[in-house]
Amino acid sequence: MPLSQITEQDEELAESYLKKFYNLTEETGPSSRRGVSPVSRKLSEMQRFFGLHVTGTLNADTMAVMKKPRCGVPDGNLASYSTFGDHSWQKNSLTYRIENYTPDMSVAEVDDSIERALQVWAKVTPLRFTRIYSGTADIMISFGRQSHGDYYPFDGPGGTLAHAFAPSPGIGGDAHFDEDETFTYRSNKGYILFMVAAHEFGHSLGLSHSDDAGALMYPTYTYRDPETFVLPRDDVNGIQSIYGPNPDIDSSGEEPLPPTTPDACDSTLVLDAVATLRGETLFFKDSFFWRSHPQSSAPQQSFITSFWPDAPSNIDAAYESQHSDKVYLFKGDKVWAFSGYDFTLFFVGSNYYSHDEVKNTMDKGFPKRVDTKFSGLTGKVTAAFQYRHFTYIYSGKHMFEYSLSSGKLFRVLNNNYFLPCTNF
Ligand SMILES: [Zn+2]
Ligand SMILES: [Zn+2]
Repeated sequence: MPLSQITEQDEELAESYLKKFYNLTEETGPSSRRGVSPVSRKLSEMQRFFGLHVTGTLNADTMAVMKKPRCGVPDGNLASYSTFGDHSWQKNSLTYRIENYTPDMSVAEVDDSIERALQVWAKVTPLRFTRIYSGTADIMISFGRQSHGDYYPFDGPGGTLAHAFAPSPGIGGDAHFDEDETFTYRSNKGYILFMVAAHEFGHSLGLSHSDDAGALMYPTYTYRDPETFVLPRDDVNGIQSIYGPNPDIDSSGEEPLPPTTPDACDSTLVLDAVATLRGETLFFKDSFFWRSHPQSSAPQQSFITSFWPDAPSNIDAAYESQHSDKVYLFKGDKVWAFSGYDFTLFFVGSNYYSHDEVKNTMDKGFPKRVDTKFSGLTGKVTAAFQYRHFTYIYSGKHMFEYSLSSGKLFRVLNNNYFLPCTNF
């Protein structure tokens, strides 16, 4: 993306982002070391943390990450889980108090969200939480907007969603939520309070941010289903490095294992699907995908749902239709269609922060059964791609050839149709 697409507004946002989250201090004149400006150095640090192409200059990818809703606590060292050094509670029994409520949800929903968010951590540690209704608790929980009594004012809708303080007396352990956000109990419109609170309580207990894109302690917000959420392995390792494991673990063995984030360097990795999208290659695995840009050394890992909120995980196949400018994701006997992801969408004036404004959602009428979108296909799709004027879809031992323009089925071929045969 040419530099001209970075607006003055973007540059201001970037500078304030680096000040807030990367400890960029006011520049004191042009005399920086070897001509590398402090902004550029901090920008590189930020790009490294998020697995972006490290250029030290602003580009569309970097701006897109900076515009994602996130936690207000600065990003620490480049590491999977990390802790606030020697800040930890010297006791296992902690108290919490909910000082006020957001009007976005019922009192019962807020209570339940907070309670469950604390249990996320109690399940894997010796820590136990008791609610109190008056006096000073270890973890004081409140909702506030803009300046709200500490030196870290909130910023209106989007941007910073919440922040929390590392264990210590006084404000230590406290968690504040930005009342200018819309918090929800279960809907994917607005921010799930349970998810935001569970992340913040990680700080309240002594964890700082992780650069593991699947970790709860990753700085940016991603929608995850609170009903099925299990604390990821990276966070379990982090909190247990401070407090140790839960001594009361139930021996039923029914607790789901902490999920690990797929690792691109794992030589035993088996990808679910590979597809191209506008010159980038997308590699799908579980709930994640990597985007690899030809000019970039490291692929960027994200949740599939952070780009396509309605997408399934553990997909079977994916392909880009350049003809219709759509991405199709296949799972079981269903197909989902998404209208690409247009970087320019992230630059639409002041609406960038709102999930609702982002138009790259699933197309109307999807998911469909694959046989209604591609006639003749009834089984599970294992691979799909486009070549010349045709779409080819692999299913079972067959490969189906469809016209790109009409979608009409032309031929049913064998799987190895495109495979050069060397067995003379
Ligand atoms: Zn955080
Ligand atoms: Zn605060």
